[in-house]
Amino acid sequence: MKENSGKKGKVYLIGAGPGDPGLLTLRGKSVLEKADVVVYDRLVSPAILGFCNPKARMVDVGKMPTHHKVKQSEINKLLVQFAEEYPEGVIARLKGGDPFVFGRGGEEALELVAADVEFEVVPGITSAISVPAYAGIPVSHRGIATSFHIITGHERSDERTLAGSLQTRDERACQVFEPAEMSCASDRLSLDFEAIARCPGTLIFLMGIANMDFIARRLMECGKDPKTPLAFIEKGTTPYQRTVMATLETAGETIIRENVTAPAITIMGGVVELGKTLAWKKNLPLSGKRLVVTRAAKQASGISARLTALGAEVIETPMIETRDVIPASSSDVIPAQAGISFASPEKQNVVASPEGAWQSTSVDWNTLANFDLLAFTSTNGVESFFKQLLASGRDIRELAGKKIASVGKITEKKLLEYGIRCDYVPEDHTGEGLGMLLRSILDERTLVNSLQTRDESGIALSGTRSAESKDLLDESRILLLQGNLADDTLLKLLPGATRWVVYETLPVTELPEWKKEAVENADAIVFASTSAVENFIAATSDVIPATCAEHCRSEAGISSHLAFCIGRMTESAAKSHGFETVTSDETTMDSLVKKIVEYYT
Ligand code: SAH
Repeated sequence: MKENSGKKGKVYLIGAGPGDPGLLTLRGKSVLEKADVVVYDRLVSPAILGFCNPKARMVDVGKMPTHHKVKQSEINKLLVQFAEEYPEGVIARLKGGDPFVFGRGGEEALELVAADVEFEVVPGITSAISVPAYAGIPVSHRGIATSFHIITGHERSDERTLAGSLQTRDERACQVFEPAEMSCASDRLSLDFEAIARCPGTLIFLMGIANMDFIARRLMECGKDPKTPLAFIEKGTTPYQRTVMATLETAGETIIRENVTAPAITIMGGVVELGKTLAWKKNLPLSGKRLVVTRAAKQASGISARLTALGAEVIETPMIETRDVIPASSSDVIPAQAGISFASPEKQNVVASPEGAWQSTSVDWNTLANFDLLAFTSTNGVESFFKQLLASGRDIRELAGKKIASVGKITEKKLLEYGIRCDYVPEDHTGEGLGMLLRSILDERTLVNSLQTRDESGIALSGTRSAESKDLLDESRILLLQGNLADDTLLKLLPGATRWVVYETLPVTELPEWKKEAVENADAIVFASTSAVENFIAATSDVIPATCAEHCRSEAGISSHLAFCIGRMTESAAKSHGFETVTSDETTMDSLVKKIVEYYT
């Protein structure tokens, strides 16, 4: 990614917000999407890490390979180092909340200035205000609080370290933490308690849980009313959010009794009472559950959105990826009747292109001229085809005069994005439906209901016109643009047609570290196919689930994890790897979501 013209890369200090991935700013997301390097604090929400450019180098400064804590001075140096290592690159420094609110973003920025590295600050939504908001507590309210004050409950003059490796699962669920060495830091707090106690506004303490007993006592000694309402909000805005109410005089004992843990904010003042009426964040059926969805990204978004709306934290972990097959000469476009397998090209026939796609050494774009009808059977096929067409220096004019067929509405819509209207879409949106439709036209059968043509105004019409049929006299002039895993249904119905493999589907064999960690701490894995199960097992064989003690690891790897499965085949694949399984009644996502909710409620 090239953006600035200087010799060094540009560093973006980005606020990730308090936890809910929806609270990342649009600017933050767009920088992450183009980042070459992402330097993130331990446990920035995996859903936010999922927004990062998949090719970005991901650097977790909360845990380096040696398991050493990374000191702030080392992080500062690292940013400068990356700026030098990636001239003209984009380096994203992703921090919880807002980078300039107790985030040490200022220190990092000073170091960058000193090293003459260009930088930009992308503010984030600070937990100080958003976490109370998610608990229904407005930080200011007419007649109750006319100001609010954000105070650190922890101070150290020396280096603060980032989280250690001994965090619990719940702590891992959140992106921010309190310093581990906070046993009793009262001697380190140099707050002006007299001034704070006199503040009439709302008091908001960050990083204050470990010191709260001391802070509360000092405030009362300085005249603050012991009955001042107070709330601890733990893991705010995440599926694990919890609010615990107390008063200044009961603060210390409440933390112990309720086991309030970091990260949490403490809010004090009359506004806290409003939280009893305004707490709007409902406890949803899947609140507090982390689910791994193993579908391909595009398919996953539907089920992910639904599980998220039901309160779950969803980690999308597709177990397959698609890769374009770049045509280079004509031998890759092979008539179907030649009976040649269209599986993944043999290694010796392909070379890796710079984009990571597999390039066939032998396909010629000029072959396109030999076809009158192009049939697309997936959105992936459409995307790969047009990407390759443009990459070859050509454009849609190559398709002038050709008929276009699509397997269904979604593929039709995708074609429209490229400025192409479909001539043929079967009513039955399957390969068989498309095959039958084209077969019927070839056979000059009349189709009344299964064919759509368009009138001059572009409005889809049902029925066929004889002129359309005449355009398609020759079956050998039909080109099917498909993925390597497409079944032979279309080819069987159109044996004279030619299939062109425009993309390949490959198993994901490795997960990035941050994803492995997220998977390790998941409550359950959602599988929609046996191949997803097999690929998942292969890619996570070194992951020890947190819910699984050492003794319960089976030879197969993950054993005590729970798997939600679509279909009996998927279920038995998951079972064979030692998963406890819950299977949907029907083979639909609706049925699976219903089953997941039933399981947890
Ligand atoms: N820059 C961050 C604050 C970093 S200090 C911001 O603007 O939010 C870390 C402290 O922030 C934690 O100890 C905790 O007090 C608070 N905090 C951050 N995220 C939180 C969350 N999701 N829920 C509760 N407290 C949170």
